[in-house]
Amino acid sequence: MQTSSMKTLARWWEPAEKNKIKCTLCPRYCKIGPDQHGFCYIRQNKSGRLITTGYGHPTGFAVDPIEKKPLNHFLPGTDILSFGTAGCNLGCKFCQNWTMSKSRLDDLNAQSVSPEGVVALAKKHSTPSIAYTYNDPTIFAEYVLDISKLAREEGIRSVMVTAGYIDKEARKEVYKYIDAANVDLKAFSERFYRKLTSSHLSDVLDTLLWLNNETDVWLEITNLIIPQENDTEDEIRQMCDWILENLGDSVPLHFTAFHPDFKMRDKPRTPDNTLHTARLIALNMGIKYCYLGNILDSQSQTTYCPGCNQPLISRDRHSVSSNIIEKGKCPDCAETIAGVFH
Ligand code: SF4
Repeated sequence: MQTSSMKTLARWWEPAEKNKIKCTLCPRYCKIGPDQHGFCYIRQNKSGRLITTGYGHPTGFAVDPIEKKPLNHFLPGTDILSFGTAGCNLGCKFCQNWTMSKSRLDDLNAQSVSPEGVVALAKKHSTPSIAYTYNDPTIFAEYVLDISKLAREEGIRSVMVTAGYIDKEARKEVYKYIDAANVDLKAFSERFYRKLTSSHLSDVLDTLLWLNNETDVWLEITNLIIPQENDTEDEIRQMCDWILENLGDSVPLHFTAFHPDFKMRDKPRTPDNTLHTARLIALNMGIKYCYLGNILDSQSQTTYCPGCNQPLISRDRHSVSSNIIEKGKCPDCAETIAGVFH
């Protein structure tokens, strides 16, 4: 289905000096001159109005296991329709998906699909949810909002896979129909965020706080561990400490392995030992659910009951091999397991 051109007018902007437009969707607050694009490539000043060129132009449709997002406590064992667009509002030197995030739409042979078309695709593939993923969905928020509203009407859930770098006012609207999010907490130092992502840690922490404490969105966190950049035990402890103090002990935390890519090819792949150490630190500090990703190890991908340590959901990489949770509880000790299971 084609999209109408009217729909490409962006929300979240205001006029600025010298015929510029200030985009107010993310904390970068780009001031965009006539015919120029914002940092994320897909928001453009056209004749004094902000246009979202990503609206209706998805790339990379796939039906993935939801564990691949990764989400381990949200409809485990189900498939999710996934897509992204071109562009990104962060500048991560280690981007693991840079062929999309650093591309322009015409490089990617983007399709033309209306919000109705995306929801129809989810219904065709019988996926109970849709993921806005691959690049950062913050930048195509208008499209997300229209799709997630329609999806909710059809009983289909919506999932944001994001870095959480979004304006405080805009996020209230963008997440109105969102059911779950995996937020990438890329490190626990401002140095890392500024130098390697061109963004700021405090904005991401603020989004995590808001999602967890002021919305009903189910939240999980991913931390990509990069050797020599964010892999010290001290930094892992500080991150876990902040999570426990501010978000509680039940937000699942995923540590994932880095592979050399994009502008960071001088660092090795994350050693398995580093990942296992990080997981042990998190568990010993009191985080109830901690997983490892991009690594072959079924034990660290299993969900254990925090009450009696019974294995509840067993996974083999991204596929669920057994799930014995009953009505959100451990069948042995009746401990409630945090998550959305139906
Ligand atoms: S969403 Fe894009 S254009 Fe808007 S402020 Fe962020 S990077 Fe700039």
